[in-house]
Amino acid sequence: MTAATIAGVETIALAAPAADPDDLDASRETIVIAITDIEGRTGIGEADAPARVVRELVEMDDLFAWSRGLANVLRGRDPFCLRALHAELNAATVYHGRRGLGIHALSGVDVALHDLAGLQLGRPVYELLGGARRDAITPYATIWPGAVKGRTIDAMMAAIGEQVAAALAMGFRALKVEVVFGDLVGDRVLAECIHEARRLAGADTMLAIDFGYRWADWRDAQRLLDRCVDDDLHFAEACIQHDDVAGHAKLAARVATRIGAGEFAATVHECREWLQAGVDVLQPDVSRCGGLTELARIAELAAHHGAVVIPHGWKTGITAAAQRHFQAATPNCPYVEMSVPALWDSPLRADLVAPDPAVADGRIALPTAAGLGVALRPETVDRYRLA
Ligand code: MG
Repeated sequence: MTAATIAGVETIALAAPAADPDDLDASRETIVIAITDIEGRTGIGEADAPARVVRELVEMDDLFAWSRGLANVLRGRDPFCLRALHAELNAATVYHGRRGLGIHALSGVDVALHDLAGLQLGRPVYELLGGARRDAITPYATIWPGAVKGRTIDAMMAAIGEQVAAALAMGFRALKVEVVFGDLVGDRVLAECIHEARRLAGADTMLAIDFGYRWADWRDAQRLLDRCVDDDLHFAEACIQHDDVAGHAKLAARVATRIGAGEFAATVHECREWLQAGVDVLQPDVSRCGGLTELARIAELAAHHGAVVIPHGWKTGITAAAQRHFQAATPNCPYVEMSVPALWDSPLRADLVAPDPAVADGRIALPTAAGLGVALRPETVDRYRLA
């Protein structure tokens, strides 16, 4: 078979009106990277990073061998050479990219290359990742009541209760509740909120908690988690400051609950530090950490450390689709995060791509279509496209 090489790379920046700029929602904006081959097939990916910055990293002129525009490296190349291209793109941007925005941009390119190669072969992306290692996808629904914005704790818990009931009715069997309450409550009341979350979720639902980087001192996190041992939390996320690796090591060694970390992480090199610290659950995002190629390497390394990967995902249906394929091919990925359009109003999450598969009894069927199995909806692109 003659390779259908890459003819063009396009960036599509999109922004929906911000519901509230003070809220925590990365899905109001995105940058789609669309890679087209000489036969007219187009693969798509996105980066979870500021759209216009990523656009510049893709489209910039080459400066020198270690600081090139991603598109310049890609044109004329064979998208099927996924790992070789990933290494080359990394090397061609290492001077400015390393572990930050350059890797986020590379993430979107890598996912688009997987989509395109899958389309060329007529096979789903998880087969490019080595084939299915499970018979269904198991997402967890994130319960995010929004920022406090003057509400009482009772109002916050009522909002959480409504979303938990809705998620269970939709078929989810795994939930993560965000308790980003700031100084609205002290730790004693927060523990009561977590007991209440368990009661709302029911005894048999997988329940995780996201603390939104509540504490500066790991000892405070330990005290709270010790109070909640009987709530059977599957993991505790964002307890202390993201880059406090030493604090995470101490916390993970002293509590019964699995400790999650690394949702902002880029590259396997950064994730190795978390694994050596002893965290149980790595949470890199496919659209930030370096794409599917990098996330697969991270999961492999995690397996050698007795850890699992439960990736962060709060963007559009492109990220959600990439996560499904990753989980399909990854034994030590028990769950993937799902921002559920019916629970959180996000126009780009709900409408940028189709289809969005249904959840039944906690599971989503394995994808069967070629590539990622989702396509851009032109009317959504037209409506929200930035110049
Ligand atoms: Mg989080």
